[in-house]
Amino acid sequence: MATLLGIPFDANSSYLRGPSCAPQKIREAQQCDGSNKWSELGVDVGAPDAFADAGDLKLKDAKEGVADDFAAIEGAIQGLLAAGQRPLSLGGDHSITYPILRAFPRLHPDLTILHFDAHPDLYDEFEGSRLSHACPFARIMEERLAKRLVQIGIRTLSRHQRQQADKFAVEIVTMSQLPAYDRLKVRGPVYISFDMDVLDPAFAPGISHREPGGMSVREAIAHLHAIEGAIVGADIVEYNPMQDIEGMTATVAAKILKEILGMMIKIVHR
Ligand code: MN
Ligand code: MN
Repeated sequence: MATLLGIPFDANSSYLRGPSCAPQKIREAQQCDGSNKWSELGVDVGAPDAFADAGDLKLKDAKEGVADDFAAIEGAIQGLLAAGQRPLSLGGDHSITYPILRAFPRLHPDLTILHFDAHPDLYDEFEGSRLSHACPFARIMEERLAKRLVQIGIRTLSRHQRQQADKFAVEIVTMSQLPAYDRLKVRGPVYISFDMDVLDPAFAPGISHREPGGMSVREAIAHLHAIEGAIVGADIVEYNPMQDIEGMTATVAAKILKEILGMMIKIVHR
């Protein structure tokens, strides 16, 4: 069963804090009566027992406590996977994807990550930290936690990150190459990592790093729906309520959540 897990952690953010408040805000928007609970692919996400909710992790969320928090995140995901669940994590800054993915290889050694983001997050280190939210996919590829990493919507590729992408054989689909539906038809188990800043800030201003020229909500949903292969886990990260306007980005995050949940639930009913 798909299981929500809130990860209120933003101590590895390089620029602004705030994403630690996101899980609760996304849940509120998801439960809002302003919209029904049917995903566009025809799944009633609001049906009883459609998915489970493991609540929010209790974390220190401080720079000094990062090692403990990362161990707690990895342990929680490991517990869900061992119980046969498919975790859908609500961040949190993007650094949490590294401890989340550490729990996967035992069950899913041939994982493909489909990573939606304005940024490749491949820095070897950023401002003195190797665990920064600018670095998770460097750590993930170094430890071979996935067989393939496909990044979609990228529009901030620096020389260093291009070198890192070459070193780890990362498959990058830049924003200017979209649409690219065929790149999402992968074999084997899939993990979706959805950084809200892949969206244009006009649609989703509630993020820490506003990078214009991004996806519309419709483009993001169309690319999500193009994914083939069993979705064994996912995360939605980098929503920053402090930067939001009238909660509009929370509504967008809840919409993305509904569509990903619908896809995860549909696997069971197939
Ligand atoms: Mn990111
Ligand atoms: Mn980003």
